[in-house]
Amino acid sequence: MQRLCKKLEDGQAPFATIVGCSDSRVPNELIFDQGLGDLFIIRTAGQVSAAASYGSMEFATLKLKTKLIVVLGHTECGAVAAAVERPEDVPGHIVTLINEIKSAVSKSANKPGNKVENAVRQNVIEQVNSLRDLEPILSKKYKNGELLIVGALYDIHSGKVEFLEETLVNLPRFKRM
Ligand SMILES: [Zn+2]
Repeated sequence: MQRLCKKLEDGQAPFATIVGCSDSRVPNELIFDQGLGDLFIIRTAGQVSAAASYGSMEFATLKLKTKLIVVLGHTECGAVAAAVERPEDVPGHIVTLINEIKSAVSKSANKPGNKVENAVRQNVIEQVNSLRDLEPILSKKYKNGELLIVGALYDIHSGKVEFLEETLVNLPRFKRM
């Protein structure tokens, strides 16, 4: 560990940015089997992003030259469950999270199966799309093929990560640099 710290004291060059949920059962480095200096991580409940998160992603993209953003949702997400089950009944700033997840809940409301798990999946897809459209930095880098933005789901039962097919189609041609 000490040797690795020494290696990183002059700077970081993480290869990916993870936009994940704060849930204590979803420690991003452990899930992806990565160590110090490998991942630039932004975590909020329901991996909901607002200005400070966007700035962090732009920083990673521009300054750290990270070429990949993974939006990582997970099964049984409490933030998504709250948006599905009791959206009118949340105190304080938690309403900010619910407001951001609401559209995924309504879009997935008529799908067969578990309402929370459908909304979890839809939430990741919507978040990927909004990052791809985020002006002025991410959208440009994404369209130019300099930045990949994809979505994934972590299953807290199996420990497996599924990259979402819906976010892997029609990608701009990625430039190898
Ligand atoms: Zn969660």
